[in-house]
Amino acid sequence: MDANDHGDQAQSPLRRGLMLILSSPSGAGKTTLTRMLLQAQGLDLTLSISVTTRARRSSEVDGIHYNFIGRPQFERMRDGGELLEWAEVHGNFYGTPRAPVDAVLTQGRDVLFDIDYQGTQQVREKVQSDVVTVFILPPSMKELRARLERRAEDSASTIEKRLENARNEIRRWVQYDYVLVNDDIQQTFDELLAILRAERLRRPRQQHGVEAFVGKLLSE
Ligand code: 5GP
Repeated sequence: MDANDHGDQAQSPLRRGLMLILSSPSGAGKTTLTRMLLQAQGLDLTLSISVTTRARRSSEVDGIHYNFIGRPQFERMRDGGELLEWAEVHGNFYGTPRAPVDAVLTQGRDVLFDIDYQGTQQVREKVQSDVVTVFILPPSMKELRARLERRAEDSASTIEKRLENARNEIRRWVQYDYVLVNDDIQQTFDELLAILRAERLRRPRQQHGVEAFVGKLLSE
């Protein structure tokens, strides 16, 4: 048997699902890495789609990149306890709806989060053992600016605000389990894969499946 196999085990997963949280300042490559992880064959990661009050960028699709909602709806969700975590970032509100995350985790499947350090801290406080956190650093501030300008989706004043905030965010790297410097996107992606593979094999996450396997092994 394969202790990582969760094919038809929706009722009784063989492994506990984990929450893989990626944080970085805007422009460090996190969005690209998230896309690469979601497209990787057989990795079976589900992205947590946040709600936000930020205006949609032209490249974004409502319901795929975010659920774009108004401030009153955000406040209703937050006050009604529907959000696992929430934060104000760059003057907008962002939050993680709790129900879809719970649904994936109970199937023994993993959820990927692209959230900031404030949200990471809140999730960690609530569900410590199921969380793996990774902080992605840009190779230099010059490169970070270049990436934000290349993206050309934000106004000049937004870019300045994001660069200012980046310095504050970068100081939070010490709160994370892993830290990666994204100099080369393929290498950073490979490192993320290595982290995910190792974390999936941690004994507490496999306890249920391996217990059954060992029971059988010892009865042979
Ligand atoms: P952006 O506006 O560039 O899409 O995202 C700005 C920042 O908000 C990023 O650092 C991103 O990780 C963070 N963010 C996105 N969704 C959430 C969320 O649901 N919760 C928290 N705490 N941060 C989020």
